[in-house]
Amino acid sequence: MARTRRQRSPEDVAVGKTLPPHRLAILNTLFAFVVFAGLIFAALNVYVGNSPLALAEVCLAAFTLIIWRLVRAGKHPALCISLYLFVLFSVGLLAMALPKTTSSVFCWVLLIPILSHLLLGRWLGLCYSGVFLSCAGLIFFMRFGGEPGFDDPASVANVVISAISIVCFSHVYEFSREATDHKLRRMAMIDPLTGLANRMLYRQWFETARANAQIANKPLSLVVADIDHFKNLNDTYGHEAGDRALCFVSSVLERTLGARGRLCRIGGEEFSIILPATDAAQAVAIADELCRTMRQSPWRFDSTAVSVTLSMGVAQLGVDGDELKTLFQAADHRMYRSKSQGRNQVSGSDLEGDSLAN
Ligand code: GH3
Ligand code: MG
Ligand code: MG
Repeated sequence: MARTRRQRSPEDVAVGKTLPPHRLAILNTLFAFVVFAGLIFAALNVYVGNSPLALAEVCLAAFTLIIWRLVRAGKHPALCISLYLFVLFSVGLLAMALPKTTSSVFCWVLLIPILSHLLLGRWLGLCYSGVFLSCAGLIFFMRFGGEPGFDDPASVANVVISAISIVCFSHVYEFSREATDHKLRRMAMIDPLTGLANRMLYRQWFETARANAQIANKPLSLVVADIDHFKNLNDTYGHEAGDRALCFVSSVLERTLGARGRLCRIGGEEFSIILPATDAAQAVAIADELCRTMRQSPWRFDSTAVSVTLSMGVAQLGVDGDELKTLFQAADHRMYRSKSQGRNQVSGSDLEGDSLAN
């Protein structure tokens, strides 16, 4: 299969799937900040004779650049972030533990719950916060436990309660962000009438299916389906009944298709199906089965059985095009051929021929 201008690797798709944009933006800021601050602190620590810490900071800056590269290349970004925060926080603990650092170094612990939650999500973020804050508390106690005023309950309460409150706020924020994100994604990608994927999710599914097909060297086909004379149905039974008919058609198609492909409503009374590991001849056979099942499953309006039929067109990746646009155009063009040849049928390329669904 010919490589096209803008091929996406499966890793690209994985980065898009596992790293939401807000996480990527925070990560990029953190990387830039750690490299910049790490080198400044390394220079300062060389100046004050704290060379172990200076060395750790230079190594951390180098490690940051490596992880940055890996994340940008889409190499296991979630794993990279977990590992990176583990190393970053460990270097922070080292700085807190070394006797030459001042007590002000502990102000950095407040970043632990915020970064953990923003970059790892609420559960892993909570685990990281718990582990690293406890370690920081232990180090603080070991270094300054014997100093006068340490046992003042108000001071201890200030530190402990402020740390717990930052963990709580970060956790609650991440919880509500995840819930809102989920809701918005659903609204953006799911057709509210039929519950099917809409055009936006369809495009994402296609990109993933195409990347998988190219890696596995397997065929991929697309079907475009349009309900016949749907305007008549609307005009005869009303728009609300038309809505119910659309839901009915969706459920029949979904049930008949099963796990063989992914069904989407791409607009009005038009649907499309992505068929992985399916060549055009197999896709015509599947589309034909869908047409026949639809034809044999009349939609009921009150006590009247109304026959609903579909016209379909099929196209195959690599044969009819490599981009969604060209493939879709080919399948759509054939769907219109089905219409012009009398509807309730499937059209493939000249090789597969057409099939009458009766
Ligand atoms: P053809 O067989 O050539 O496809 O004819 P058709 O009547 O199906 O196609 P046409 O494009 O003339 O009409 C499509 C109709 O689908 C018009 C529009 O009102 C209706 N429609 C689109 N979206 C919806 C919807 O969400 N609900 C309802 N009830 N009707 C819809
Ligand atoms: Mg139409
Ligand atoms: Mg139509």
